[in-house]
Amino acid sequence: MPYKVKVDRTLCIGAASCVAVAPNTFDLDNEGKAVIKKKDGTTTSDFVRYEDIADDETNIMNASKSCPVNAIIIIEVDEKGNEVKQVWPEA
Ligand code: SF4
Repeated sequence: MPYKVKVDRTLCIGAASCVAVAPNTFDLDNEGKAVIKKKDGTTTSDFVRYEDIADDETNIMNASKSCPVNAIIIIEVDEKGNEVKQVWPEA
């Protein structure tokens, strides 16, 4: 199943552990909030499909688990992009 990931900017405190764990996926912007780096060179805090990120699933999950405020949200989606279930943070 494919996944998508986003950063909740209202929760992010700029602790940057996500950047340390998965530097190919996460970066801090000029507001000190985490953004996701896409293969096309752009960044966003909004949902990005894993296929648009130059990193592997394990790195992205480990980075999400490293966030002290659970600001990184991972959602499983189906082939059409419909949300199946939230995989991180666990309910
Ligand atoms: S680890 Fe969490 S709080 Fe720290 S920059 Fe990343 S998303 Fe923000």
